[in-house]
Amino acid sequence: MAAHYIGIDIGGTNIKAARTTHVGAIVSAASATTPTTSLDDLVATVTKLVETLRGSTAIQGVGVGIPGLLTAATRTVQTSPNIPCLKGVHLEGLLLTALSLPVVTENDANAAAYGEWISGAGRGRQHMVYLTLGTGLGCGLVIAGKLYRGISGYAGEMGHTVVEPDGRTCGCGSRGCLETRVSATGIVLTAREHGIGDPSLSASSLYQAAVSGDSGALSVFQETGRFLGIACANLINLLNPEVIVIGGGVMASGELLLTSAREEVRRRAFGPSAADCPIVQSQLWPDAGTIGGAMLARDAS
Ligand SMILES: [Zn+2]
Repeated sequence: MAAHYIGIDIGGTNIKAARTTHVGAIVSAASATTPTTSLDDLVATVTKLVETLRGSTAIQGVGVGIPGLLTAATRTVQTSPNIPCLKGVHLEGLLLTALSLPVVTENDANAAAYGEWISGAGRGRQHMVYLTLGTGLGCGLVIAGKLYRGISGYAGEMGHTVVEPDGRTCGCGSRGCLETRVSATGIVLTAREHGIGDPSLSASSLYQAAVSGDSGALSVFQETGRFLGIACANLINLLNPEVIVIGGGVMASGELLLTSAREEVRRRAFGPSAADCPIVQSQLWPDAGTIGGAMLARDAS
């Protein structure tokens, strides 16, 4: 029987899991609520998801995306702001024991980037930047045909590069980070600054208002897209990438953001470099993370 892999995408709210073929096609999927305060519950939940998907098929390996800083040398989770029980934990080892299967862990944005690179919008490219716009802003880099992790495993924190020196306070302790502007949270803050005061405001309700022609909501997305464009122009001038792929929940507003982002890129990036780098939507969203996890497991074995 052909080899199958399981990819797990641990989020602050839900854990998604998928069994895939050798080339990353999803065969079956499952999900569960994320236990954030009990490590035992978290390991038990992942184990149960793997058992559910395992069926009678031979599983060659499991790849797990974790939202946080993962130290490359020790495979330890340094910090995971939304899942406190993971701090200082060697999840890879715990799951290896619980599952009796090969397990590989990776930063969640890196795992999603890997998925998009293997079988999505970055397929066949040597140099790809992946940005994921959700509650925060995640980033994964593929450089010269390899996932780029930096010296410690912490590379790609594009969300915490500064776009406004005295800007909004960020969860990381700095100010004016990109994700304080370009994320679901940032979009809501921008809307409030624009005087949109609806208490049930969310990035998706604003998107609905923008597509139905609300000029206030539209200008919020244009302003957000402008900051996204500044970030893309910086990436293009720094890395001369072949493609920038953008995924994440906020990309329901896809072209609305991308149109203003591309305009800003035209204003700021070197023309020849920008011309070589299309900015496109993710092809795998919302499955980039699970597919990427499965493919990391495949390529680690
Ligand atoms: Zn920050």
